[in-house]
Amino acid sequence: MRLANKVAIISGASSGMGAATARMFAREGAKVVVADVLEHEGRQVAEGIGASARFELLDVTKEESWAAVVAATTSHFGKLDVLVNNAGISGSAEQDFYSTEAWHRIMAVNATGVFFGMKYAIPAMAANGGGSIINLSSIAGIIGSEHVHVAYNASKAAVRLMTKWAAVQHAKDNIRANSVHPGIMPPMRTSGRTADPAIRAERMGTIPMRRPGEVDEVAYAILFLASDESSYITGSEIHVDGGVLAI
Ligand code: NAD
Repeated sequence: MRLANKVAIISGASSGMGAATARMFAREGAKVVVADVLEHEGRQVAEGIGASARFELLDVTKEESWAAVVAATTSHFGKLDVLVNNAGISGSAEQDFYSTEAWHRIMAVNATGVFFGMKYAIPAMAANGGGSIINLSSIAGIIGSEHVHVAYNASKAAVRLMTKWAAVQHAKDNIRANSVHPGIMPPMRTSGRTADPAIRAERMGTIPMRRPGEVDEVAYAILFLASDESSYITGSEIHVDGGVLAI
């Protein structure tokens, strides 16, 4: 199994790509902490996986919440090998793309949440001899987007460079950090305009493969980066986008 004996925290694992990744990690032998603000759905994901999974309530915007989840993970499973910073909110539900309140909310979850995750996971990984961090950015971390608040692009670009910073800064600790950039996927929970069928149909035309991605297609990229198969890959990025960024 590709993740035998590894312990992973996956933020935002109550739905979407986080839940798919949690299930795939467990199938590959990992012990998985399903961490999310959505308690009911998160407990269902963990119960569906069984004894190798555990739900932890996590609000990625709260430093003390991250500290508690990392402590619970190392106390229950003995160590931490993998952190998947997957929790995120879409900027497409905003009415006002210049809303200052939305700017702070989106940056808090998508950018500060990743910073806090790395801040608390890295010491635990270093204490255990190393680890792998996978941060979920987006094609929106590389190119500008229509129909989303500016903070979505800004936060996902921040994730891309925070990842490269961590790779450079913590290579000495045997910690790798890479980003994954999904393209047009199933709509997020917080999607507004980008869930609109007319907008999605228009966006399909921008994808060389002419279809949206599937959650497992992203989870497989995360799995590879979490496993020792990617042992010489750090500071890198994988685009899982049907060719959008190749144009
Ligand atoms: P989703 O909305 O299905 O899942 C996101 C999860 O994050 C939810 O379970 C939610 O409860 C959780 N979350 C939100 N705020 C949180 C907080 N403060 N603390 C803890 N958890 C919180 O979305 P998804 O489509 O699975 O997206 C996963 C990641 O991939 C996100 O970072 C997203 O930005 C990124 N992404 C998504 C798409 C897409 O089109 N779906 C495209 C590119 C990138």
